[in-house]
Amino acid sequence: MMDLKTIKGIGIKGEERLNKLGIYDVNDLLTYFPSRYDVLKRSDLNNIDTLDKVVIDGKIESVPLVLRFNKGLNKMNFRLVTKDRMIGVSIFNRAFMKTHLTIGTNVIVIGKYDKDKNILTASDIRLGSLSNETKIEAIYHLTNGLSNKNLSNYINLGLMMYGKELPDYIPLYLQEKYHFINKRITLNIVHNPTDMEKLKLMIKRLKYEELFVFMAKVYYLNEKNRKDSGLTRNIKESEITSFYEILPFSLTDDQKKVIHEIVEDMNSSKVMNRLLQGDVGSGKTIVSFAAMYFNKLAGYQSALMAPTEILATQHYNNIQKLFKDKVKARLLIGSLTKKEKKEIVEELSSGKIDIVIGTHALIQEDVTYCNLGLVITDEQHRFGVNQRANLKNKGITPDVLYMSATPIPRTFALTIYGDMDISTIKEMPKGRLPVKTIVKKDDEIKDVLNLMYEELQKKHQIYVIAPLIEGDSDINEQKSVSNLQDKMNVAFGMKYHIGILHGKMANSLKDEIMLKFKNSEIDILISTTVIEVGVDVPNASMIVIFDANKFGLSTLHQLRGRVGRGNIQSTCILISKEETERLKILEKTVDGFEIAEEDFKLRGSGDLFGTRQSGEIMFKIANLKEDYRILLAAKEDATEFWKKKDEELTPLKESIVKLIDTN
Ligand code: ADP
Ligand code: MG
Repeated sequence: MMDLKTIKGIGIKGEERLNKLGIYDVNDLLTYFPSRYDVLKRSDLNNIDTLDKVVIDGKIESVPLVLRFNKGLNKMNFRLVTKDRMIGVSIFNRAFMKTHLTIGTNVIVIGKYDKDKNILTASDIRLGSLSNETKIEAIYHLTNGLSNKNLSNYINLGLMMYGKELPDYIPLYLQEKYHFINKRITLNIVHNPTDMEKLKLMIKRLKYEELFVFMAKVYYLNEKNRKDSGLTRNIKESEITSFYEILPFSLTDDQKKVIHEIVEDMNSSKVMNRLLQGDVGSGKTIVSFAAMYFNKLAGYQSALMAPTEILATQHYNNIQKLFKDKVKARLLIGSLTKKEKKEIVEELSSGKIDIVIGTHALIQEDVTYCNLGLVITDEQHRFGVNQRANLKNKGITPDVLYMSATPIPRTFALTIYGDMDISTIKEMPKGRLPVKTIVKKDDEIKDVLNLMYEELQKKHQIYVIAPLIEGDSDINEQKSVSNLQDKMNVAFGMKYHIGILHGKMANSLKDEIMLKFKNSEIDILISTTVIEVGVDVPNASMIVIFDANKFGLSTLHQLRGRVGRGNIQSTCILISKEETERLKILEKTVDGFEIAEEDFKLRGSGDLFGTRQSGEIMFKIANLKEDYRILLAAKEDATEFWKKKDEELTPLKESIVKLIDTN
C-alpha cells in the first residue's frame, strides 16, 4: 500500500508520529477511526442546568487577562459577547492561546456555565463560530506533536489522493443487498460527519466489512483444515500413567479428564482443533506438557507459542525441571543471538529437538520443522487468527491445542474460531486458598497501606496496578506509575524495593523487571495493566488495583489471578472512587465463568476480550460483543461467498487469502 510520505505535509517527522499510532501506510491512515465525536450545537443559556456541558460562541470583548500560579499553571479571563448577552469566560492553562484571542475574535467556548455568577468555566476554546446546524467533530487518539487538525488534514488529503484505490472487501452483490454505499464516501463521512444518523449507518458498514473479512478468513482456514487428515498415534494408558508418576503433585480429576480428551484426538486420524479453557491458576500448562510428552513418545516434534518472552521462558524452565533429559527442549525467542538462533533452527529441521518453546519467533523466523506434530498456543486470545494459521502451516497436518483463561461462551467460540472442540478445567488444584477480595474507597488508602505493610513484613511480594489517567498517553502512564512509587516510598520509609513497569518501556526492560520480581529482588511491582498474563510468582500474595471501577469484572478477575498461585493466603484489594456495588461481585466469587456471565449482564459490552492495553483488540472498528448481530450476518454471508462459483468473485477471494498470508 501507498507510502505515507506521498501525502503533502506528512514528511519524515509526521511519518514517525503516525507510526507511533500504528499507522504505517495510507490504508492504515484512512482507516484510523475517530475515538469519539463531539457534537457542537449552540446551547440556550436560558435553558440549562448548572451541571450541563454548554457550547456557546461569540466575539471577544476584552483583552484576556492571564493569572499565573505555581508549577506553570495559569488561568485566563475575558469577556465574551454572545448572541444575547455578555458573559465572563475563564479557562485554565491556555495562556499560550492569548495572542490569538484579540478583541473582536470569534470563538467557540465549551464548558460549564454558572448562571448566578454569569461565568463560563471553559474546558476548551476554539477559534471560529458555530453555524446554525449541528456540527459534529471527529476526535482522534493522538500522540505528542500531532494535533487533531493535522491528523484530520492528512486523512482528508489521503482520501482525495487515494480514496478511489482503497480496497473494498464487500462483494458487490452484498453491497447491493445491504444498500451500502461505496467505501470512499463511507470513509469521508466517518472522518467528516455532518449528520448523526448517516454517520451511524456508515460505521455499521465499516464494522460489517471488517467482520465479513474476518469470518471469510475463518471459513477459509477451517475448510483448509477439514481437507487435511491428521496423524494417528498410539498413546497407551501406561504412558499416561508414567507421565503422572514424574509429576511433583497429583493432577485434579479435571486435568486428567482433559488429558484423556486430548489423547483421544491425538490417537485418532482426525486433526485436533481443540480449545482448552480453564480459569487462571487451574493448571492448564501441565496438561499441555503432557500432550507434548506423548507427542514426543510417538516420534513427533511439538511447538509451544506464548505471547511474551517471559512467559515462554517460564514454560521452558518448567519443562526442563520436569522432564530433565527425557525430552530435548529448546527456547527460541527474539533476544537470542544470531548464532544461537541458527543452531536451534538447524536442530529443529534435522529433528534433534523434540519441543520448542517461543514467542512469535516461532513463526517469524525462517523456521522449518522436521516433523511437527503438535502446535500449542498459550493465552490464545492474544494471538490473531493469522498468526495461529502461520504456525500451523509449518507442519504438515499438526494437531492444534489452544489454551485460554478468558472464558468464552461456547456459541461465541464456535462463531469466531469455527469448528472447534472445547475442553474445560473447572476444578482448582487441591490446597489452593481462594484469593480474599476486599473493595475499598479512595479515601481508605491508609487501611490499604497498612494491609500492604503487614504483607511486606511477612516477606511476601505485592503487585500494584496504577490508576488510569484520562487520555492515557505514554507520559501520563509513566507519571501515574512514578507518582505511586513516590507515595509508597514515603509510606514505607524506603525500606522496600519498588519496581515499575509501564506500556512504553522496551520489552527487554519489562522482562528484566519481571524477572527481578520473580526472583524476589523487587518487593512491590507497580505497573499499568501491562503486567503479564500467566506469569507465576507464588510468593506474591497481594494485588492492589487502583481505579478498579474502570475495568471490566473479567479483567479484574484476570489481574487477581496473578496472586494465589502458591499455598499462602492471598488478598486482592480493589480501590475505587465510586460505584463499588459492581465490584462486590468479586468479593463473593472466584469463579471466572460466573464473573464473565455477570459482566455480560452488567455491561452488555463486557470485556471478554480484555483491555486495549493487553493488545487483545483485534478489530479497528468492530466490537465482537456489541456487534454480535452483525457478526452473525457476516458469518452467513462469508460462507455463502466462498461457496459461490462466480468467476467475478475470484479476485476478491484471492485478495482475502492474501490478507491471511501477509498479516
Ligand atoms: P494456568 O491454568 O493459569 O495457566 P498454571 O498452569 O500456570 O495455571 O498453574 C498454576 C500453578 O499451579 C503452577 O505453579 C502449577 O505448577 C500449579 N499446579 C498445576 N496443577 C496442579 C495440581 N494438580 N496440584 C498442585 N499444583 C498444581
Ligand atoms: Mg497459563
